[in-house]
Amino acid sequence: MKTSLLQKLACPFDKHDLELKVFKQEQDTILEGILTCTQCNRYYPIIYGVPIMSPDEYREKSLEHPLLHRWGLQLDNDSKTFRLLAAGQEIEK
Ligand SMILES: [Zn+2]
Repeated sequence: MKTSLLQKLACPFDKHDLELKVFKQEQDTILEGILTCTQCNRYYPIIYGVPIMSPDEYREKSLEHPLLHRWGLQLDNDSKTFRLLAAGQEIEK
């Protein structure tokens, strides 16, 4: 996706602003990255330049986890929704 598109994107769940973290970029196109909602903490990965912003029920955690793991992100595994752990939060063993 183009970096300029970010201003038009909002969380599909609560319409709040999204925060972008870029992992791979070519000129003004983001190839890999992650959008996080500042309100509900849901994450939306950008894979092969496409932001995955489907509702929770249409998403497949097993497909997204390896990628997020490669990016060094911690996930809330027990949660039914797609949220990242807040910074400093520990994963319970
Ligand atoms: Zn949200």
